[in-house]
Amino acid sequence: MISVNDAIKIIETNCKALSTQKVDTVDSLGYTLSKSIISDLNFPPFDQSAMDGYALNFKEGANKYKIIGEVKAGDQDLNLKINPGEGVRIFTGAKIPSKCTTVIQQEWCIKNKTEIKFTQKPINKINIRKKGEQIQKGDKALKKEVNISPGLIGYLTGLGVEKVDVVMKPKIGIVITGNELTELGEKLEEGKIYESNSYMLIAALKKYNYDSINLYRTIDDYQKTKNKINSAIIENDVVLISGGISVGEYDFVEKSLINLNVKKHFYKVNQKPGKPLFYGSIEDKHIFGLPGNPGAALTCFYIYVLRLLSVLSAVKYPIKIKKVNLNSNYIKKSGRSEFLKVELKDNVAHICDFQNSSMLRAFENANALVYVDEKVESINPHQELDAYLLL
Ligand code: AMP
Ligand code: MG
Repeated sequence: MISVNDAIKIIETNCKALSTQKVDTVDSLGYTLSKSIISDLNFPPFDQSAMDGYALNFKEGANKYKIIGEVKAGDQDLNLKINPGEGVRIFTGAKIPSKCTTVIQQEWCIKNKTEIKFTQKPINKINIRKKGEQIQKGDKALKKEVNISPGLIGYLTGLGVEKVDVVMKPKIGIVITGNELTELGEKLEEGKIYESNSYMLIAALKKYNYDSINLYRTIDDYQKTKNKINSAIIENDVVLISGGISVGEYDFVEKSLINLNVKKHFYKVNQKPGKPLFYGSIEDKHIFGLPGNPGAALTCFYIYVLRLLSVLSAVKYPIKIKKVNLNSNYIKKSGRSEFLKVELKDNVAHICDFQNSSMLRAFENANALVYVDEKVESINPHQELDAYLLL
């Protein structure tokens, strides 16, 4: 049985970023750029008014201006002849007429028919967003390796960029095993439970911007399990198998994987929850056998699966790790590393009820997992621990 840290190391050294592809900018959220982006535009593309007010052909000392026209946002060059001491009504975002050098906000102006006067002395060269002040045509708009956020989708589409080169995201297959499982919406017969790991894992994947997901279901039958896993491996980059990886007579996942020639990198980690965790690969496909117990499956997702997915898609591991203290003493009896579901309040971790690996109710309050190393036997509130923030 290996340690948590060794398991993480094995995963991270066994995978590398996927190849690259072009995607529509509007669908690029969460992808990492594989090529830098050169701007085809100046932004803004022209001198723009930053205010609603009056654009003036500034004349030193003048305390009133004649207003000879109006320019709205979106208007083309109106070829207005604006002499010194004259101006136009203008609105935010509108193109500054060529002879105008400043915009005075309307709050400073008093209009009387075709003339304006001022409540404050007008100033030259203010309230104009200069052409290209954010970026100039031909300049690098974004460097590669940047991860695309909502702000950057706005920035790039604002520059007219329709497609971007990115590192691909993995296609993920989820294989659900278990005779006892009933699909949501169906009647629950005696001895059965509702299947929930698929929905939980899909939600977790979507939360971290992985949405290319295929779902497979099988009963606990060796041939059927093997066939489903085989299809999932063929059709995806990463396969997450739920259940069937323990040592019971009806757990067929390990045997299936071995007979499909999946190379075992580790099986069983000295941790609680999630001891019966399997990680293997075949060619460039990665396979996790996750424990069926929902609390364990989710912990393994956050700690291991998400690390693999991050390397494959060249993004930073998205879970922040922070030093925290427990609010009370804790005696660890398991002899294993533990991931405790805690509620963090101002850096102090309160251990939640319902820690059992079969349970998920702790997530009513839990917002972090606190890591207690296998070598540690007890903790007091003065010792610092790593918390994985699940927000
Ligand atoms: P297993 O790892 O297959 O031995 O399953 C361990 C425990 O998790 C058993 O109590 C299962 O009924 C439960 N379990 C397995 N798969 C699921 C699932 N997809 N949804 C909810 N519970 C599950
Ligand atoms: Mg099972």
